[in-house]
Amino acid sequence: MADPWTQLLAVLSWIVRSWRRPAGAGAAWQQAARRIGPADEGMGRHPALARSTRPMVVVVGAGFAGMEVVRNLAKAPVDVTLIDRHDYQLFTPLLYQVASAVLAPSEIVRPLRSMLSGRRIDVRLATATSLDLDRRVVITDRGEVAYDILVAATGSVASFPSKTIEQRSLALKDLDDAVTLRSRVLEQFEAARWEPDEKRRRQLLAFVIVGGGPTGVEFAGSLNDLVQLILDRESAGLDRREVSVTIIEGEGSLLRTFGPKLGKQAQRALVGKGILVVQGSVQAVTAGRVKLADGSEVRSGLTVWAAGVRASDLASALTDKPGKGGTVLVDRSLRLTTHPEVFVLGDLAAVGAGDKLLPMLAAVAQQEGEYAARSITALALGAPDIPSFRYRDRGMMATNGRFAAVVKAGPYQFHGLPGWLAWLVVHIALLTGFRNRGLVILSWLSAFVFQNRAVRLIGPSVRKPRGG
Ligand SMILES: Cc1cc2nc3c(=O)[nH]c(=O)nc-3n(C[C@H](O)[C@H](O)[C@H](O)COP(=O)(O)OP(=O)(O)OC[C@H]3O[C@@H](n4cnc5c(N)ncnc54)[C@H](O)[C@@H]3O)c2cc1C
Repeated sequence: MADPWTQLLAVLSWIVRSWRRPAGAGAAWQQAARRIGPADEGMGRHPALARSTRPMVVVVGAGFAGMEVVRNLAKAPVDVTLIDRHDYQLFTPLLYQVASAVLAPSEIVRPLRSMLSGRRIDVRLATATSLDLDRRVVITDRGEVAYDILVAATGSVASFPSKTIEQRSLALKDLDDAVTLRSRVLEQFEAARWEPDEKRRRQLLAFVIVGGGPTGVEFAGSLNDLVQLILDRESAGLDRREVSVTIIEGEGSLLRTFGPKLGKQAQRALVGKGILVVQGSVQAVTAGRVKLADGSEVRSGLTVWAAGVRASDLASALTDKPGKGGTVLVDRSLRLTTHPEVFVLGDLAAVGAGDKLLPMLAAVAQQEGEYAARSITALALGAPDIPSFRYRDRGMMATNGRFAAVVKAGPYQFHGLPGWLAWLVVHIALLTGFRNRGLVILSWLSAFVFQNRAVRLIGPSVRKPRGG
């Protein structure tokens, strides 16, 4: 029998080992490997992971999908590394309010490290440039990261039909876009104040939004409110009749995905506020004009492109047969059929078939993220595969200016003030973080009730549409 000191040491060492490695977790990597197979023929696991007994899950993209995965893996016997090119999560549904000076950028983002503090998640700031699916590594601009299980959730980017259109328009897809757009809108008013010629003033103050989907409609409504405010309160020398806000929509009615009734309601509300709605397909954007396929032209001092997105560039490292909008086709377990250890989620993924693909929505991305986390937990625990992913549609909503919104939730459809109140409550609930919620409520009070746009700032670097 060992002496008491040796026994005490043995007990202490057992306690430390079991604290560092929860019961059953020692087998977690083997459990997962049985299902997903070795990294490469004969190679087994990536050598960088040899010392770990738990599967290494690498999540690329800290958006709606990626953050849902990470949050739901908190108790799973896995190690998690989260890679993003930004150190914050962006709440895109309110991006248009940053572009129209209702909210400050900091009110719609939350720092990743503060969101995940207290959780053992390795957050890395880097841009994933490629993937080596056979070696199971993510290649970033700062180095390589090995994984056992990969979650690719890098979202989508603005998509333009031509390089010239891209150079002559501004997008509204990320925080930089929103801040740039805000500055450019305000700058147009400053330039107009110096312009003695009425025709040239009208040119400067012609705002054109291409795309009548939720982004285009919400931005147009909020921009129009800003225009009214600027002109009503402080614009000596500027006349409302010299300003135009135009939405160009190529595929029938506005807000097509909401159905014809709500689309018409939204259009009526916008037109009632003085916004022009033009039907047509954009062929070209020149300096000062947007040209349509039927030969007509719309005057434009600032063109905003809100007519399409495509999957982010990482898609090309995941598939050589991209789906609609460059997306990556996955099976009903949200994984690549050729690499079952790779989950592809959110805007990057094509889930479904043909016309029945799931839309690029935050709710879709979040539900996919939650599903992937449950699936990864089952893999790590050696539990049976969970049933296929099913999306539960909880509806959609879009504002069309102050105190007006359209809402579609199952069989219910409403618009106007009731729609706007529903929109308000839902967005406050969806915003994460007590601080952000409080600040946004104050900013909305200021903007909607007192008609004050507190963030009317022209940024230090105003990026012009690249073509002038
Ligand atoms: C203006 C606007 C308004 C919207 N409004 C709504 C709305 O009201 N309701 C709704 O349901 N949906 C809305 N959407 C759509 C919604 O934002 C997307 O469907 C959702 O964000 C997709 O989630 P995701 O996780 O796939 O991607 P994202 O949330 O976009 O996250 C992708 C993450 O990946 C990171 N990333 C990208 N590339 C790399 C890389 N190479 N390396 C490292 N990190 C990378 C990005 O920084 C980002 O953090 C809106 C979108 C926009 C642009």
